[in-house]
Amino acid sequence: MEDCFLACLETLSTPLPWRTAFDRIVQTARSQLIMDHVVVYVAGTHGEEAVFARALGRARAAEADVDWGSDIAHQILHGNQRLVLQEDQSTSDTNREKHPFFLGLAADAAQPPQTALVLVRFGGPPFQKADITRGRILAAFLNILRTQAEKQQRLQNLEALERQMRLQEDFVSTISHELRTPLGFIKGYTTSLLRNDAQWDENTRREFLQIIDEEVDRLADLLEKMLESARLQSNTLEMNFQWMRLDALIRDVTVREMTRDHQLEVTLALTATSPIRGDSVRLSQVLENLFSNARKYAPGAPVTIRSWQDERWVYLEFSDQGPGIAPEHQPFIFERFYRAPQTTHAKGTGLGLFICREIIQAHNGKIQVHSSLGEGTTFLIQLPRATLPPAQEEKIA
Ligand code: ADP
Repeated sequence: MEDCFLACLETLSTPLPWRTAFDRIVQTARSQLIMDHVVVYVAGTHGEEAVFARALGRARAAEADVDWGSDIAHQILHGNQRLVLQEDQSTSDTNREKHPFFLGLAADAAQPPQTALVLVRFGGPPFQKADITRGRILAAFLNILRTQAEKQQRLQNLEALERQMRLQEDFVSTISHELRTPLGFIKGYTTSLLRNDAQWDENTRREFLQIIDEEVDRLADLLEKMLESARLQSNTLEMNFQWMRLDALIRDVTVREMTRDHQLEVTLALTATSPIRGDSVRLSQVLENLFSNARKYAPGAPVTIRSWQDERWVYLEFSDQGPGIAPEHQPFIFERFYRAPQTTHAKGTGLGLFICREIIQAHNGKIQVHSSLGEGTTFLIQLPRATLPPAQEEKIA
């Protein structure tokens, strides 16, 4: 049994899943303990549940037909027995597989036990005292491995929780900073305007009021986007998926944007694409964010939008010929609050592209950026094509 001890010690010092580790121990113990089947059962909500099963010798080929000792496990897990021996001595059938000898052992100290180890020998020999002792050692190893795995799992859960809490703390501190900046401006300029000991000419007053107005807009925009992003992250933003065509949506949003901004120069290169399952309000929001960014970061530069498809995806490409984004910032621009250092004084929250990505991902799609400094920026969106009954084709907008 020394080999078995050594195998156990080795597996304990390597981060193996408990099943792999136990399997190694079982293989090593085989030379000391004859067993055809080794099965581990745990107490589940619907009775005993096999969580490990190994066929070692005889009856390996007939795994589906033989008895795996679930009755024995039941006596341990539900009958609160710590040791069950069952021997089939009948001689009516010469097939060994029809004569299983069972040794069942409780593998933990709980009352009733939560884990049972069942060893099966087909056609004997019966389990002797020494076999039972070896079986107990095996059960003890099993208990160590399972307890260790449980602890590991708990530790991982705790670490995930800790990470989440840290993110939340970062979020709160970033948010308070983001809110404080516009509030500071608003407070400063209103205090200046209200001072009794100062006289402001009309132009200065207007300039101050304009700054206040812009900062209030920024606050409102920040709050709106924060709410959206929080809802998107917690999956509580409702999506209303319907059959729709992306090329039609691009046309609609572009017309709206051009009516709002007469300087905007947009080229559309759209091919009629297959229907998708999408939330048209949310997808419009994605496009509006891209338009808003193009206006802010590439003012006056022409925009081109293309659409096409292959067998799996419908694609939308949104390009501007603006200043572009430096390569070192590109990997981060979809992260919450990330803003690349600005050459213009464009205001923003760093939430727009995060929201775009979340919306696209909620559609099982992808969004990427390709950009070269001085040449422009391209956002590539892909959304899964959906197959639609032909009769419905005409009804889609
Ligand atoms: P915001 O515009 O509020 O800062 P976004 O999440 O929409 O936040 O964008 C993140 C960053 O990506 C921006 O701060 C900007 O640096 C960069 N960016 C986005 N779109 C463009 C673009 N079309 N051209 C250049 N830079 C862009």
